[in-house]
Amino acid sequence: MPKDENKPMLPGEQIASIEEFEGGKNTYLASDGTVRSAAVGTKVYDLKRRIVKIDQKNSPLLPKVGDIVVGNVDMLFSSMVSVKILYLNDKKFPSGYSAIGSARVGARDRDRRGDRRAVFRTGDIVRGRIISLLNSQVHITLAEKEFGVLYTLCFICGGDTVRTNENSIKCIECGAFEDRKLTHDYGKETFRLIYKAGR
Ligand SMILES: [Zn+2]
Repeated sequence: MPKDENKPMLPGEQIASIEEFEGGKNTYLASDGTVRSAAVGTKVYDLKRRIVKIDQKNSPLLPKVGDIVVGNVDMLFSSMVSVKILYLNDKKFPSGYSAIGSARVGARDRDRRGDRRAVFRTGDIVRGRIISLLNSQVHITLAEKEFGVLYTLCFICGGDTVRTNENSIKCIECGAFEDRKLTHDYGKETFRLIYKAGR
């Protein structure tokens, strides 16, 4: 679910419709009437001539399968979690990509329908590993002990939290407990700083 105009384009990604812009360098016209990228790079619009091209010069670093992603949960669906990527392999990643992962990993409890309860909330800082780039979408896994929630604040009062056991945190302000899929290194100072910066 990328929204940022400056995010890197992958080959095959839609740039514009032919009614809006004509395709310039490193683009092609697809059979559905959309202008698509033929290369990795950033979009450059010529608004006067109504041409869009892909500039490979400033081609940013792109997510690859196996890369480690750190970001914050920006959307939560019943079974999926969308993570805005803030770091890629420990390097700042300013390109506006989001990754999606399963929201039910590590869930112990099941709801009345028998589904595993989600163990993430919007704003959580999470770490995952890229497992696929199918359809130009970054897919991550949040399973395994090094992946999951790195840090978050109390959902009820916004207070600081500490890990109490493998899969729950406690608010040191109001005492509320919450279930999360936690990493083995939950709550480190660096993750707290990322949380603040990601606001
Ligand atoms: Zn609280």
